[in-house]
Amino acid sequence: MAFSESTKDLAFKRSGGRCECERESHGHTGRCPTRVTRHGAQYHHKHAESLGGSDSLSNCEVLCVRCHKQTQSWGRH
Ligand SMILES: [Zn+2]
Ligand SMILES: [Zn+2]
Repeated sequence: MAFSESTKDLAFKRSGGRCECERESHGHTGRCPTRVTRHGAQYHHKHAESLGGSDSLSNCEVLCVRCHKQTQSWGRH
């Protein structure tokens, strides 16, 4: 499953138009400073769907493409 458009809308509003990634391994200190657009943003399952992650807003993380490529699920959803 994928996130619904309404979930993406809410996640994008929550993000304030900025990547929500805080993974230290990516080279950005604290939160990623990259700005994203509603349709350019990546909507990532924090808890992978294959492991039972849901399509709820709380499981949706707004990421920039660069960060999304560094997550393990890149290319698999
Ligand atoms: Zn990012
Ligand atoms: Zn990142």
